Amino acid sequence: MRKPIIAGNWKMNLNAQESVALVTGLKRELAGVTDVEIAVCPPATLLTAVGSAIAGSNIALGAQNMYTQDSGAFTGEISPLMLLDAGCTYVILGHSERRQYFNETDAFINEKAKKALSHGLIPIICVGETLEQREAGITADVVSTQVKGCVAGLSADEMKKCVIAYEPVWAIGTGKTATTKQAQEVHAMIRSLLKKIFSDNVAQAVRIQYGGSVKPDNVSELMAQEDIDGALVGGASLKVDSFAKIVKFNG
Ligand code: PEP
Repeated sequence: MRKPIIAGNWKMNLNAQESVALVTGLKRELAGVTDVEIAVCPPATLLTAVGSAIAGSNIALGAQNMYTQDSGAFTGEISPLMLLDAGCTYVILGHSERRQYFNETDAFINEKAKKALSHGLIPIICVGETLEQREAGITADVVSTQVKGCVAGLSADEMKKCVIAYEPVWAIGTGKTATTKQAQEVHAMIRSLLKKIFSDNVAQAVRIQYGGSVKPDNVSELMAQEDIDGALVGGASLKVDSFAKIVKFNG
């Protein structure tokens, strides 16, 4: 049985005061939740403040990105050791905005995933097709190439720890959600690919989140799908009310 995981990707939003107010509200609203893993992923400058604010609660800390090296002359980059030091459990890797604006490739994301795992951080590996690719009928090809590239060389144990986030690029921040059928189809395809690459045991263990305009009013239907094990939430994770409702999708 896979435990659902719902994570908020704050992207480049909120200041220290707003972020502490947000997690203070979330702690209050989500105090009794034990059947869902909850994470918030603030910008790097807020990790420590948010980490302190959620210490001892059922909300875990995640980062939005990470570099492949432990330390050294890499101006502007943040290492896995720094993320651990700030109290992170998760790190989002290969978000479509990083692929699009910072030219991140599957090979680079793969390197980051291996590094994160070697330090005990759990990677949330993002994949997803653009609108042009969906309309060209190549969604399955695109997403399988991304998954294969990003998980290449991982051991079965490492793979089991990873979370994959399927985020159709055309649904991110646009208000357009993939239909539950479209989402489930890709999730099932990713799981069968993991079975082929690793084993059925691995495929059944890996949690696959859906991301792309997830809101309180569409989360339950998405979560009811067999292969959807959680959500990566952007815009709706910036407000206590909407993120709390999403986490409590079970009612
Ligand atoms: C995201 O940033 O990963 C995302 C899914 O954003 P939104 O929920 O705003 O579409």
